[in-house]
Amino acid sequence: KAKKDGGNGYRYCTEQLNSNSFEFLRLAHELRDAVSLKQFVLHFQPQIDLASGQLVGAEALVRWSHPRDGLVYPGRFIDIAEQTGLVAELGNWVLREACTQAAVWRTLGFGPIVTAVNVSALQLRRGDMVGIVENVLRQTGLPPHCLELELTESILIENVEQTLAQLNQLKQLGIKLAIDDFGTGYSSLAYLNKFNVDRLKIDRSFVGQIGNPANDAIIHAIVQMGHALGQRVIAEGVETAAMRAHLLDCHCDEAQGYLFAKPLPAAEFAKLLAGYRQEFDRQPGPA
Ligand code: C2E
Ligand code: MG
Ligand code: MG
Ligand code: MG
Repeated sequence: KAKKDGGNGYRYCTEQLNSNSFEFLRLAHELRDAVSLKQFVLHFQPQIDLASGQLVGAEALVRWSHPRDGLVYPGRFIDIAEQTGLVAELGNWVLREACTQAAVWRTLGFGPIVTAVNVSALQLRRGDMVGIVENVLRQTGLPPHCLELELTESILIENVEQTLAQLNQLKQLGIKLAIDDFGTGYSSLAYLNKFNVDRLKIDRSFVGQIGNPANDAIIHAIVQMGHALGQRVIAEGVETAAMRAHLLDCHCDEAQGYLFAKPLPAAEFAKLLAGYRQEFDRQPGPA
């Protein structure tokens, strides 16, 4: 297996070399250059309030603008970025870029929306996340309540004391926290009352099986539990009107998925945002 080599990359035993490890080495090498050259772009996917139909949030999703391969999706490089430690620097770039973009949309009057950024375990393990977030908010002028960090369940059960201290400090800055891919990580729910989390994101594997009674019972239970804990619940991977209707029946608060829009480049997302805003402004309703 890969072994750390003085920060200089990864060394493999010859007998373990196979096409996968060649691919790993190639991408790891190219990724290091990409991170220093900032060869990445963010796409934004809207999050929709189910009851009002209003666009309430955006998840920032990173893509690698590879010089030869074109746009490379995170499924092909996030694991490598994590294993090589590059995800810390990449994550900082994503955070800054997402906040810069969100601040611009706000200035243009496209708000109010919450912009969500995915955080990897390593970013919290390094222990410098609070200062980094504080700096980015100050430098971009984005109000803290407009930023949400998405954490996975595995982050929350590793190193609980250190993670808890950092997340409490992040909450004190006024930012929001969400649990991503909820229901697919470790089954212990004990961490849920330790962490002050604002949103649960129901994993799309549950959403994709809507219609199966046992699966629907799980979705229902997640929504009930989230609400009992004072959290909002969002479903990811919503692809059909039938899924949306079922989630609305379950009192799920929000949804994200191809039914509404795929993740879009910033310019296209801004057009979508402006369209939703106009639609909303036309409707009479509570101020
Ligand atoms: P995620 O955070 O759970 O993001 C949702 C993924 O589901 C995205 O894939 C999105 O394009 C996809 N998706 C959204 N709606 C639908 C739908 O209706 N149907 C289907 N089948 N898929 C849908 P993407 O962009 O390829 O990202 C994959 C994962 O990579 C993300 O999962 C996240 O864990 C990770 N990732 C993305 N950007 C970042 C980042 O900046 N930092 C870190 N650490 N991880 C990231
Ligand atoms: Mg996410
Ligand atoms: Mg997710
Ligand atoms: Mg997911």
